Amino acid sequence: HKFHPCDEAVIATNDDASDCKRCAVRLGYWKDDYIGYFVRNQERKAPEINRGYFARVKGVEMCVEKFLKKTSGNCQIINLGCGFDTLYFRLRDTAHQVKNFIELDFPTVTARKCYTIKRNKALLARIHDEDGEVRLSPTDLHGPSYHLMGVDLRNLDEVDSKLQQAEVDYSLPTIFLAECVLVYIEAQNCRNLLKWIAQKFQAAVFVNYEQVNMNDRFGDVMLNNLRGRGCSLAGVESCLSLETQRNRFKDSGWTGARAWDMVQVYESISAAERQRIERLEMLDEGELLLQLFQHYCLVVAWLGVTFQDIDITVE
Ligand code: SAM
Repeated sequence: HKFHPCDEAVIATNDDASDCKRCAVRLGYWKDDYIGYFVRNQERKAPEINRGYFARVKGVEMCVEKFLKKTSGNCQIINLGCGFDTLYFRLRDTAHQVKNFIELDFPTVTARKCYTIKRNKALLARIHDEDGEVRLSPTDLHGPSYHLMGVDLRNLDEVDSKLQQAEVDYSLPTIFLAECVLVYIEAQNCRNLLKWIAQKFQAAVFVNYEQVNMNDRFGDVMLNNLRGRGCSLAGVESCLSLETQRNRFKDSGWTGARAWDMVQVYESISAAERQRIERLEMLDEGELLLQLFQHYCLVVAWLGVTFQDIDITVE
């Protein structure tokens, strides 16, 4: 594999996301019995960061849940730039079952995820049933309905061949997830990926969580922080506004797209749940959290009309 030097920095952003998720889970923001297998770090993060991750995980989950309900599990989930995300394992413990769950990330990341799964019975047991077998290579893992594979998302031929190895069904309703991933991918490569998905899949939803409103001073600080770590932010031009976020999908063959900043997403979480987590840690003042929420967004795009109502509004 040919790597850009900045790919290494992008790969490292997964460690940061996983550490933050682990920290928030330990403090009780949400339940995740699996993240601890992937993260050893016990460093405590600021309350604003924990609440930010809570809104992020809840926001994505709300969309996934609506999709699963609507398809009755007759669907696929494809997690792009999955990192150490544990959604697959968490779903296995619920009544929601899906036909196929596919995870893609750089081989360096999937190799570490494969290794951890292989070493832990509690994880492996969620991938194969009694006599189902699990096929493993250093970077890829294939179970009966779970596939984790190393690939560069900028290389569509490779993505296509990996999805075929995962027995993807292009005619089955599919939800794509990208949590803080597209911002690292060059605008043209990203458009090609989104176009390719729109051409291949018949009915799909894309849930994208990432930075927005990057053209103000707070946005500058956020971007400089990432650049300082060596990340190329090749996709940042789509993170300027909710409109640029929506347009990226509409310009790539998607039927429609909606976008909300995280202030709106947070407000859509049930009042009881918000009150519960707001008691976990005190915030000195709400200003920093508000700024953070204004600079991240959730975008939901759809192909066809069946799934245009997947959103964050409370039913
Ligand atoms: N989605 C995970 C989460 O939210 O916990 C991980 C987020 S992390 C900030 C970004 C992830 O995107 C990293 O794991 C990185 O390796 C992956 N990524 C970025 N560009 C990629 C590319 N071109 N191909 C494959 N994976 C990529």
